[in-house]
Order: sequence, then structure tokens, then C-alpha cells
Amino acid sequence: MGVDKHDQGHELPTPEPDSPSLPRSRQAYRFSTLCATVDNPNPNHKDQHGSSSVPIYQTATFKGVGGEYDYSRSGNPTRTHLEHHIAKISSANHAFAVSSGMAALDVITRILKPGNEVIAGDDLYGGTNRLLTYLRTHMGVVVHHVDTTNPSTIIPYLHPGKTAMVLLETPTNPLLKIVDIAGISSMVKEKCEDAVIVVDNTMMSPYLQRPLEHGADIVYDSATKYLSGHHDLMAGVITCNRDDLAKQMAFTVNAVGNALTPFDSFLLLRGTKTLAIRMDRQQSSAMLVAQLLQQLGFVTHYPGLPGHPGKEIHERIADGYGAVLSFETGDKELSERIVGATRLWGISVSFGAVNSLISMPCVMSHASIDPATRAARGLPEDLIRLCVGIEDPADLLDDLRLALLGAGAVTRSANDFVRIPNAVNRAVEKLALGEPLVHRQRTKENREWFVSAPGKVILFGEHAVVHGVTAVAASVDLRCYGLTSPRHDNKLSVQFTSINDYYHEWDLDALPWDAVAPVPPGDSHPETLDVELMKAISDRALPPASEMPPKTHAATVAFLYLYMTLTHGDERPSFNLTVRSTLPVGAGLGSSAAFSACIASALLLLHQRIEVPPIPAPTRQATESDPGHVHISHQGRRAIPPAIADEINRWAFVSEKVLHGTPSGIDNTVVVYGGALAYTKPGFGRKAGMDKIKGFKSFKFLLTDSKVPRDTKALVASVAKKKTEEPQFVKNMFDAIQSISDEARRALDDPELSREQLLSALSSLIEENHCYLASLGVSHDTLECIRSKCSEPPHKLSTKLTGAGGGGCTVTLVPDDFPATQLHALSAALRAENFDPYLTAVGGSGLGILSPYNSDSSTSREAGTFTGPITPPETPAGGDISLQTLREQFSSVGGDQLGQWADRCGRWLFV
Ligand code: PLP
Repeated sequence: MGVDKHDQGHELPTPEPDSPSLPRSRQAYRFSTLCATVDNPNPNHKDQHGSSSVPIYQTATFKGVGGEYDYSRSGNPTRTHLEHHIAKISSANHAFAVSSGMAALDVITRILKPGNEVIAGDDLYGGTNRLLTYLRTHMGVVVHHVDTTNPSTIIPYLHPGKTAMVLLETPTNPLLKIVDIAGISSMVKEKCEDAVIVVDNTMMSPYLQRPLEHGADIVYDSATKYLSGHHDLMAGVITCNRDDLAKQMAFTVNAVGNALTPFDSFLLLRGTKTLAIRMDRQQSSAMLVAQLLQQLGFVTHYPGLPGHPGKEIHERIADGYGAVLSFETGDKELSERIVGATRLWGISVSFGAVNSLISMPCVMSHASIDPATRAARGLPEDLIRLCVGIEDPADLLDDLRLALLGAGAVTRSANDFVRIPNAVNRAVEKLALGEPLVHRQRTKENREWFVSAPGKVILFGEHAVVHGVTAVAASVDLRCYGLTSPRHDNKLSVQFTSINDYYHEWDLDALPWDAVAPVPPGDSHPETLDVELMKAISDRALPPASEMPPKTHAATVAFLYLYMTLTHGDERPSFNLTVRSTLPVGAGLGSSAAFSACIASALLLLHQRIEVPPIPAPTRQATESDPGHVHISHQGRRAIPPAIADEINRWAFVSEKVLHGTPSGIDNTVVVYGGALAYTKPGFGRKAGMDKIKGFKSFKFLLTDSKVPRDTKALVASVAKKKTEEPQFVKNMFDAIQSISDEARRALDDPELSREQLLSALSSLIEENHCYLASLGVSHDTLECIRSKCSEPPHKLSTKLTGAGGGGCTVTLVPDDFPATQLHALSAALRAENFDPYLTAVGGSGLGILSPYNSDSSTSREAGTFTGPITPPETPAGGDISLQTLREQFSSVGGDQLGQWADRCGRWLFV
């Protein structure tokens, strides 16, 4: 294939070596040498300082009369160097650098006159289509879109004297269709010798394809792509060999003033120097990706694959296959899930940069083409386009495999990945979204479901959030666990181990079924709670709240409310739910949200409203065991599809409403999805809503429970009172807290910031935010005591209160390199003051479900782990749970071991 052509040398006239002392008979430079060496377009004008990189002539005008340059719209030395360089690597006599790829096409099409006819491909870049439509509707130009992959379709549209331009793109984007530039050029020229052949070469770049060598008259590239290579500028380049055309285009560039600026010319020149080396890496990785997708059975479009239509033509014209490919999944929703599940592949339009991108053309780059036209041109709605960058190919493949797995497009068999047929996929999707039960074959649910959800901390913005300031909240890797075990006695029971080991059971038939209005599968719970049902549960299914241990009443009402509302038809599963938590309950760390997410997911599974895809999950990450039991585990394993996570979140919110009345929804959202998010309450003139903080990295935090109970309502009311009494002072505080939240988001999102810089920025924001909260009067002596213990030498750690304050917890940021011995000493000092410190990771994974499909005996046989079946066929009739069951172990494992024990139970699937 043509890559060898480079080794044989380039056919371009090689520039004369600058130094006359060099031998004249040397070989023509190869392409990458041409790229890396920028020649002086005018040897009479040597740089006065001998700069080795072309300087940026950032000037609009030039002094004097009659010089080579007078005004930068007409000419600028930086741009001249760039244009000379582009011409050199494109086999061209003339080159123009303009402000974008579309600007390039605009310059080219100004050659046309009203009445002229243009023949163009039918699978063109969307923007090209848009411009051609404009010319048709406003300029009297006739445009024929034909399938240029089949040259004979052009023939009927060749009208001598009228056909003024033939516009080709090869390979096309995004279907990678191949057009025979050479064949079409000679065919057109034979019949319409004045027609200008124009080629959009963006997908290939001059490195891989130089259409001027194959009969094209004008070639243009969106230099925004491969030529610049870093997505840091917009530019277009035009090349041609015909002096007459060059003259017309030079006139247009000067007349309309869209020439590339000096600074962008400099950047583009710099990018071009590495074109060949980038492209080599990108296309070799693209081949690996294409092969993977094809092996998995997806319809894959990539000219490098055997059997790709027009492969031989492409190999004749081009020197490589490029780094853009696309594939079909057969299902638009599945494609959306795949795109959403990737991490390394950025979701973005465009291509050609060093970083890899993924997109769905029909909803992104080609959305400007109306759906009917897309369909007519055979552009599949489920098409996913991949633009491969220079990352390590192993990472790219790994991320793609995990995304396919997470989206339910493939499953794992032995050591390999296998595609799930689309019929199964669609069924899973429907189950996830709650297809009405009557349409489904139901089996009695006899599995044990083991679920878990993290807690949450508010890192910045508490209290102020009530008044419209943005708060930043993150998941904390202390978790609540829920285990359901089937019963066979028509009873339902709960065991809340972490709240007074409370146990209660009900005869299923004795529940107040007359009060419930079940929500059919797939429907959402109404906005407001069913107060009748809540009352019926309180009055008829439970002892008076005053006779129950604190917090157990509300938790039990929430559980029964969800159980009954989700029951549809006469299927009333009989089981026990045991809930345990490594989160301190009621300390402001989201224990109620974690509980809500656990009961919502367990009940949705038991009522068969969601089903985890039948895929063994990817392996867990190592558990960090020292010190304490921080486990920054399971990050990045998004094996629970988004549709299922959304459904769990909706029902967790219902439970939160039962528990709290009018929650914001931030807590359940953080604990279901994990990571971190920014929340702004509506109604205060700021952009409201919840935004996932994409770049959030996991951090170690020491959470210290002061064990002082607090009254959130009273604390919130005290701030509101202060606001009426001292409006200006409180406004200043809120403004300052808003900038802290903004600054934190910016820092967390900033890929340029080193870990060290980020930690130091967060430390000072933590200190500042605490001071403002203290000024608002919501701190507490115990919290100040914890702060000073953590800040005193040698620790010097930054601490703030979290949540409502007035007691509850503090958060202390622990740098990565903080010595373990020192941390032990600090924890001991805090314990000596009767505080409870927990070392935890912030920003880790969200809701987890223990995969029912894993019976990987090697994992379950580790010492001290559960050895029985994860999904026992049936617990012995009569409720005799005498086997060493998962439930028994779950109930008896020590609190400080719970997290690690649960991790070892098998493979967890995470949101
Ligand atoms: N041609 C192709 C094939 C493209 O993909 C694009 C942009 O995506 C363009 C032209 C237009 O280039 P620009 O965005 O630089 O105007």
C-alpha cells in the first residue's frame, strides 16, 4: 500500500537546499522531512535575527511604499510562509490560507456564476451541503447531488457549457465511501473541459492524498483537522496549480478579507510540522479499532478493512487509510448508550486532533441535513463515528470495549468479548425502561439482590445553596448496603442493622393495599406523594412513631411506600431486606440518600422493573487497604446502563421525598451516579439545575463526625434570619461562596492543573468557605476543635464543616502523599477527643449491584469471603435459613470489615 510511496520519495520538486555547499544530487526529501522543514518563500528576505521558527508578524500594516507587504488582509509574512509550506507538501504551485474550511469552500465557489451547474457527492460534510443549498436558493446555481462512488451516475448531469464545477470528497465522512478522483476527473474533462474539479481533502490531509496529482484543479482542506492537529484553531487551506484559478481566488480572499490571521498562521505552520508523525500513529490505531469492531460483528466502515467498497481505488489514490471510521450498531438508543459510556473518547464533532473523539453524526455533525435527506442518502441514524487520536492504542481499545460492555452491546465470554444480538439488546432496553409486565414472561424472583450506594458530602456551598448559590457535592466511599433474601411464608421483613438493629415483619396480605395506587411499569411517580398511602402505612402497618427507635419510622414508611407503589398486579414478592451502613447515620453524609438508592434499586430489581444486563462486569480495581479502609475502588466501571440508573434515581428521589418532604434531589443524584456535581437552586437568576463535574478526580478526605446532633431546619432558619437582619453582609458572604464554588469547578475541570496545584487550590477554598460559614454563625465549638487539631503542625490540613453545621461532620482534605503514620496519629488524637474520624475517598463510583451472573469461584473462595452461592436457587421452604447464607454473613461481618467483605463478594456492576 501507498505508505511505501513515501519511502520511495516524493514526486514534488524538492526545494533547492539553502546552502550551495550541499551536494545537488541528493534524493528528494520524504514527506515528513518536507513537513518538518519550513523554507523561506523569498530568499531575498532573510530574517534579520535568523530566527529558526517563523515569527508572528502581528501587524495590520507595513511601513513604506512599494514593499512586498502593505496590509495584512492582502499579505502577511507569517501567512506567506505557511502558504508556501502548504503548497510544497500538497504538490501545488499556489496555496491560500483562510479562516476555516468553509471559508475555503466559499472562496472556491465564488468562481461560480448564476446559471452554472455543480455536480456534488451525496454524502458530503453537512456544512458543505448547507453552503451548496445557499448557492442554489440565493445565487441561481444549479446543484446536482449524485452518488459519486459510481462515476457513471455523473454522466447524465454533465452539461457542456453549463457544468462549471464537480465537487468531490473522498473518503466521505462519515461513511468512508470512496470516490475515484482520477477516473472522474478525466471523464469530466472529456465532456466538459472547463469544469473545475474540486476535492475536499480534509479526511486525508496532503500526507495521505494529494488530489492535484490525480487530476483535481482545486483542493481544499479544513485545516482545523489534521493539518493543525490540536483542535486549537480554525483554518482552511486551498491549493491549486492553475494560475487563472489562483488569480481569481487571490482576488476573493483579498476582497472578502477572510485570510488567516498571523497568529493562526503561526499555529497552523507549527501543527503542520508534525502532520506525518501524528497521522502514522493515528491511522495505525484506527486500523486496530476497526478490526476490533469488525471482529465483534458490527458493520464497520473503514477503507483499510478487507472488502471495504472501493478499497483498491483508494489504495491507488491515497497513501494510507486515515484515522476516521464509523460503525453501525443496529439500534440508535444502543449507539447513544455506547457514546455516553466512553471515557477516553471525547464526545465531540470534528476530527483530526491528537485526542480521540466519538460522535453520532445524525445528531451532531450532520444534524443540519434534514432526516429525510439523511435517510435518502443512506446515513444510518445509529451510526457512530470514531476519530482516532494519538493516545496509546491499548487504552483506546480498552475504553471502547468497556463502553460496549457498559452499554450492553457486548458481553464477556471466557476471556473475550462477544456481541449481544440486537433482539436481546432491545429486550434488555425495554426491561430497563419498564415494559408493561403483561407483555413479559415473568418468572418468580427468587434471587438475592445485593446493592450498595455511596454517601455524599457537600464540598462547597452549603447553606448558601438554599439562597441560590451553587453547591458542589461529591460521593463518598462509605456506603450503605442492602440485601434482599427470598422468604417463602408470604411475609415481608426489614432489618435495619445500622439503626438500632431494628427488625419488623408484615403479613403481605395485611398491608393496606386498598390505599395504594400502583404506578405501572415504565410510568413515573407523580410529582407529589400519595399522602393517603403514607397515612395508611403509618396508621395501619406500623406502631406509632414514638414507640419506634428514632429514624426507623421514616425509613420503614419509605420502604413500604416504594414496595407497595411498585407492586403491579398480584405479584407481591416475599423477602427480607437487611440494610447496613458504613456511613454514620444522620451525620449529614447522605445516609438517607444512600438508603433511598438502595431500597429503590433492590425493589426495582425484585419487581422486575429493571434488569441488569446479562454481562459479567469488568474486574474490580484493587482495594487500597492502608490506612483504614479507603477503597477508591470500582471507579470508571460504568456497567449499569444510563436508562437503568435514571430509573433508580427517579425512585430514590421518591423515597427521599417520603423521608424529607421537599429534598432538592442533589443527594440521591450524587449517590446514584457517583462522582461530583454542581447544583444551583432555581429561582435566583442563575442558571439552575444539576451539572455533573466531568473532570472530577477522586480525593482522600478525613470525615470527622463530631457526634453532636444538629437541627438542620433551625440552622437553615438562622441563616435566613441573618439575611433579613444584615442583608448586605450576608449577600457579600453568598457572593464570596459562589466564587468559591465557581473556582472549585474550574479547577476540577482544568486538565492543565497538576494534581499538586489542584490539591493546594482546593485546600485554600476549603479554608475560605469554612470562614464564611463560621461568619454566618453555623459552626460549632466541636467543629472548630476538629479544625484546629487538623491544622496544627505537623498536619497543616485544611478542614471545613460540611452540611448544616452546628455539629455533624467536618471534611479534611488529605494530600496523596500525606504519611500514613501521621494520619494514624491524627485519627488517634481526634478519637481521644471523642470524635469519630473516617478516612474515605470522595468522588468515586455511584450505585452498585452485585452481579447475579458471576459465580467466579476464584473470587468467592478467598479467605473470609462468602462461600455459598450468590444467587441460591431457593432458600429452603419455611424460611429456615440454616445454610451459611449471604444474609448471615452480611449480618455478622464486623462493621469495619463490611466494605472490604462486600467488595470480595463477587463482581459489582456500577453506575
Ligand atoms: N470538510 C469536511 C470534510 C469537514 O469535516 C469540515 C468540518 O468538519 C469542513 C469541510 C469544514 O471545515 P471548518 O469547520 O474548518 O470550516
